[in-house]
Amino acid sequence: AENTTRIQFDSLSVNEAYARGAAAAFLARYDPTVPQLADLKTAVSEAVTNCIVHAYPDRVGPITMTVSVYPGRVVRIVIADKGVGIPDIPRAMEPLFTTGNPEERSGLGFAVMQSFMDKVSVRSAPGRGTRVILTK
Ligand code: ATP
Ligand code: MG
Repeated sequence: AENTTRIQFDSLSVNEAYARGAAAAFLARYDPTVPQLADLKTAVSEAVTNCIVHAYPDRVGPITMTVSVYPGRVVRIVIADKGVGIPDIPRAMEPLFTTGNPEERSGLGFAVMQSFMDKVSVRSAPGRGTRVILTK
């Protein structure tokens, strides 16, 4: 990568805005358009919220976000946790699938990430954590 940054923070909902803002501040140097930045921030929000809500359902754990810029201004954002993991990734990524409280969750987070980014890939090991890789 041409330039990379990495932050780690606790899985507290106050830190969702921190992660979104940190990604935007880092990428601001690369003259993104307002809609490009908004799309990236939306995708980061969904991925970080998933770590807070699903990865660590009953404890606070670490989340790392790595933002990299490649030649041609390709941006890659990796959001990783050490939480419960995802047993069936294709199923988890299906629109409307949720293991959360259906009154609060709509099961659309991955669909939102996919619509706002060019590529979303997920790696996970049950009991060891999840890594979401967003590319645009
Ligand atoms: P919404 O995002 O609409 O509030 P949701 O979070 O359930 O609802 P998605 O973001 O699409 O929907 O995630 C689908 C499912 O994938 C979750 O319900 C959860 O089971 C699983 N999941 C997603 N991210 C993680 C993660 N970091 N750790 C563990 N499970 C996850
Ligand atoms: Mg979600």
